[in-house]
Amino acid sequence: MSAKRVDELTTQLRAWDRAYYLQDAPVVDDATYDAALRELRELETADPSLVRPDSPTQRIGGGVSGGFSEVRHLLPMLSLANARDDDELLAWDQRLQKLLDAAGHEGEPAFVVEPKIDGLALSLVYRDGLLERAVTRGDGEAGEDVTANVRTIRAVPLSIDDPNPPALIEVRGECYIPLEAFKRLNEERLDAGLPVYMNPRNTAAGSLRQLDPAITAERPLAFWSYAIGALEGIEFHSHHEALQWLAARGFPVNPRIKTMTGIEAVREACHAIEHEREALGYDIDGAVVKVDSLALQATLGAVGRDPRWAIAFKFPPTTRTTKLLGIEINVGRTGALNPFAELEPVEVGGVVVRHATLHNEEDINRKDIRVGDTVIVQRAGDVIPQVIGPVLEDRTGNEQVFKMPADCPACGEPVVKNEEDAKHFCVNPRCPSRDVEGIKHFISRSAMDIDGVGEKLVDRLYELELVRRSSDLYALTVDDLLPLEGFQETSANNTVAAIAASKARPFGNVLFGLGIPHVGLVTAQAIARAFGSMERLLEAGAEEIAEVEGVGPIIAEAVAGWCADPERQAEVAALQAAGVTLELAADELPVEDGPLSGKTIVVTGTLEGFSRDEAKDAIERLGGKTTDSVSKKTSYVVVGASPGSKVAKAEKAGVPILDEAGFRDLLGL
Ligand code: NAD
Repeated sequence: MSAKRVDELTTQLRAWDRAYYLQDAPVVDDATYDAALRELRELETADPSLVRPDSPTQRIGGGVSGGFSEVRHLLPMLSLANARDDDELLAWDQRLQKLLDAAGHEGEPAFVVEPKIDGLALSLVYRDGLLERAVTRGDGEAGEDVTANVRTIRAVPLSIDDPNPPALIEVRGECYIPLEAFKRLNEERLDAGLPVYMNPRNTAAGSLRQLDPAITAERPLAFWSYAIGALEGIEFHSHHEALQWLAARGFPVNPRIKTMTGIEAVREACHAIEHEREALGYDIDGAVVKVDSLALQATLGAVGRDPRWAIAFKFPPTTRTTKLLGIEINVGRTGALNPFAELEPVEVGGVVVRHATLHNEEDINRKDIRVGDTVIVQRAGDVIPQVIGPVLEDRTGNEQVFKMPADCPACGEPVVKNEEDAKHFCVNPRCPSRDVEGIKHFISRSAMDIDGVGEKLVDRLYELELVRRSSDLYALTVDDLLPLEGFQETSANNTVAAIAASKARPFGNVLFGLGIPHVGLVTAQAIARAFGSMERLLEAGAEEIAEVEGVGPIIAEAVAGWCADPERQAEVAALQAAGVTLELAADELPVEDGPLSGKTIVVTGTLEGFSRDEAKDAIERLGGKTTDSVSKKTSYVVVGASPGSKVAKAEKAGVPILDEAGFRDLLGL
């Protein structure tokens, strides 16, 4: 009986491991995975003859996914045993004390408590102070060589800041995406009409596994160092000493890492990290407790894939299962029909979740999510909750397959499917839902950034017919607001003042706020710079608009079509009459005759002293232009670390290549 169950669990866990580690797309939630692994471990402990050599308890789940060369680790990269609560943490401490007593160690050992970052582990090998290679954990014995990609991560030092670096040091740590950067990445994708990413961990793992380092360079990856591996020419006595050494030499070390004695202090430190979880700015899934002395670590050794000297104190999972009660539809400003899940309320990572995002009909059906299913819901920091997939074992047969409605749920007009991105659209330009969402977009942070007006207020003002178009906001008075719930003299005055203040927003942000299809913030700013004023843009045709850097024929057509619509023109006139900025300010105007006028410059790879935007700004301030592709017309190509294929193109086209120092000279810095 147990043998059969061991086989079942082994097969199941291996399939889940493949999905999680190799495809970065988990098929079950962590709690389900952990429960299965625990059951397997218990069966194996009860009868060690059942331990199969390929058991997931004996090795780490990852592997090498192809596309990268496999590299053997200098020392194995282990996993961590888990404690789910205080009792399991205390039990671990007791086992530890017993082992230490048996080894003749006297007194209580010192511990280090650290946040357990939810990203993916990397091994960075520095030889003579220089980053030689970066490898993923893989199966713990060998991983993928991702050096070219890791070199694009700004937080990873390319060299050790030390005049006498050791002959060899392996630095281990976690690669992750900060939550704010993850949110921004998804906002940019939404603006560009691309599907959003599910969670920071899988996105970090996917970004690191890009075959083109230029793509990795564009992803906001960060890194925390938390351990050392192989060493030559240097010695440490304790874990905290090694971390201090790293921090003093330019490695990012988490400021919340603390050293202490006594399991009670450890328990408190774990809970303190748990309390701070929501405020950290990056996802963590627990705290890690490590024995500080490296000699004691060696004495304690490892069992299976877990070191005995460390334990992960796991926090409640940010994935849970619940019932999918229904699938509702929200009609966005572009007319896109966005399905979302109505859930039986469930607490995920300390927050009650009632709704979650579903992408489109094809995605729902590909994942085979049906109304009535038990589904896995995931929440990462302040990111919108997502439905990952159904729990097939819980199916009764009464679940309903989802179908997009043929008519818009907001206005009743027929819906059209866009084959390219599989999204359904309401094409009625006067659909009330599109109007309301358009006004919400107008007030948003990257557009008019009107602090005093939230989405709920927009809904209310629309219902009351006080605001039907964005420009109506500027006609609102204190007397209009006072009768509304929650408003008093001061708050009404503040709201009217906040709306008035938004008239001074730069033209590029206003243009973005108009919600022209396909025009994200970056494109809006480029168009604003190219035309200088709304008046000039309204006169331009698609052909002229397509000449703007980064604007292709589809966007150009969309902008020209928008500009030709008399209703849009009336809205622009209303904004103009209200005093909203519809032209570039004097200090935004392109420099007519700067030292770089007439020069076109391509920047590629990662520069030490400039972000991409800073480099672009510096060039434009001196009258130059930047583009993304190298041609014979390019004046210079500026090359940073991990540059990609543009260097070869520049060489072929005979374009002068500048390194960062040459670039600084060009800028006169
Ligand atoms: P783990 O996440 O339990 O712990 C080990 C990892 O913690 C290290 O490799 C490192 O990447 C990370 N870590 C973060 N901060 C650290 C710090 N300060 N010090 C040391 N390590 C730190 O182990 P694992 O083997 O990576 O993953 C197992 C867990 O992953 C499971 O418990 C499960 O929750 C999840 N998982 C889920 C699925 C699924 O299908 N849902 C599949 C496989 C694994």
